[in-house]
Amino acid sequence: MAPQENLNPHSEAHLNGPLFQNALLTFKEAAKIVNCDPNIVERLERPRRCITVSVPVRMDDQSVKVFTGYRVQYNATLGPYKGGIRFHQNVDLPEVVGLAALMTFKNSVLGLPLGGAKGGVCVDPTKLSRAEKQSLTRRYTSEIAHFIGPTKDIPAPDVGTDAQTMAWFMDTYSQEQGGYAQPGVVTGKPVEIGGSLGRNHATGLGVIYICERAMEQKGMKMSGSRVAVQGFGNVGSFAAKFAYDRGARIIAVSDVTGGYFNGDGLNVNDMVEYAKINKSLKGYTKAELITNEQLLELDCDALLPCALEGQIDTHNAERIKAKVIVEGANGPITNAATKILHQRGVFIAPDVIANGGGVIVSYFEWVQDIMSFFWDESDIDNKLKTVILKAFDTVCHFQAEKKVDMRSAAMAVSIQRLEKAMLLRGLYPR
Ligand code: NAD
Repeated sequence: MAPQENLNPHSEAHLNGPLFQNALLTFKEAAKIVNCDPNIVERLERPRRCITVSVPVRMDDQSVKVFTGYRVQYNATLGPYKGGIRFHQNVDLPEVVGLAALMTFKNSVLGLPLGGAKGGVCVDPTKLSRAEKQSLTRRYTSEIAHFIGPTKDIPAPDVGTDAQTMAWFMDTYSQEQGGYAQPGVVTGKPVEIGGSLGRNHATGLGVIYICERAMEQKGMKMSGSRVAVQGFGNVGSFAAKFAYDRGARIIAVSDVTGGYFNGDGLNVNDMVEYAKINKSLKGYTKAELITNEQLLELDCDALLPCALEGQIDTHNAERIKAKVIVEGANGPITNAATKILHQRGVFIAPDVIANGGGVIVSYFEWVQDIMSFFWDESDIDNKLKTVILKAFDTVCHFQAEKKVDMRSAAMAVSIQRLEKAMLLRGLYPR
């Protein structure tokens, strides 16, 4: 057989996942815009370290099941690795590589002194008892303990993990360090053991700080505007509530059970209470039922996709009527749809900045843990506003100067910071 040309020099399977490939597309375009050093491009196209571990767990019926866990440390030029841990049945190494890359670019564009990482275990956490979930968390922590620590790599919650999971994580790591409390090893902890006030609502609040600023740029005001929110979990429900408190008319919200519409505006406080009691919005009667697809295409001033990736692609991008879109979720608009919306004059605040509130307050939590000195909630909200708007204004400035779309602008600003730092540090050993 004739030898074939290798079109992809990095053809290892873990680098071929759709999330990572999509991120690389944006990365390569942006690297050209800023004329990034080709040696830096070469280095930034790959993760530094991929750790795969077996996680044996004794189940409640006394049988032992072995799960697979990952921690991908993508880049640590700017500081210790930082990124969440996902417990989900679809977790695999290519997905974790993609998420770790996004964390690297997010932390850079936000101006944080942190590198990028992500972790996960392939498991459906809804099928585990509390005891099984605790055993899984503790053994996973122990398996990666050698690679993490307050100055090395600081995980956080993500899909399927929460403050309780982080408490078990912190306790396991501390026990393995001689029993001394090590709160700085993980963020998103309960406040009682070194968590930060304001962390729970941070991502939703950040989305609204960005939405207000984006509206200002379009000559609009939050108060009296019509806003639609997809997703009513941690990000979506807080984003809806903060917009509502600022006088916006929330004309629709949705969750996995469907969309809920009222052209005169929904009572968000009532819906938050309803969702708390019923675990979802299913059965909520004080609104007209619509589909998630219809919600995305509503005539509104701002659309906040706060649920899943890939919600707006080439099949519906032409029908989107919102003037401003703020990406609360990670990757809700595909690369191709971004181009269509940009050409149509829709303003997109990209995910790496728009949902950065969570990691910014995680950074504050880590700083507070190191100092053992804790701040007021209002202090935290204000510091979050300063950091997120500074990053957003820098990206807007770049976008206006180079006339590119906001996603490319955010990636370009991120690359510039990483490039400068990598050139200054140089390549070890030479
Ligand atoms: P969550 O699990 O709390 O909420 C997700 C919401 O989306 C739920 O209301 C769920 O019902 C809804 N949903 C699920 N499938 C849906 C569908 N097909 N259509 C419409 N709605 C659907 O999760 P979250 O923490 O709010 O995260 C949402 C997104 O924001 C994710 O992309 C996540 O990666 C991203 N994000 C979260 C944070 C954070 O701090 N929580 C930070 C940065 C980014």
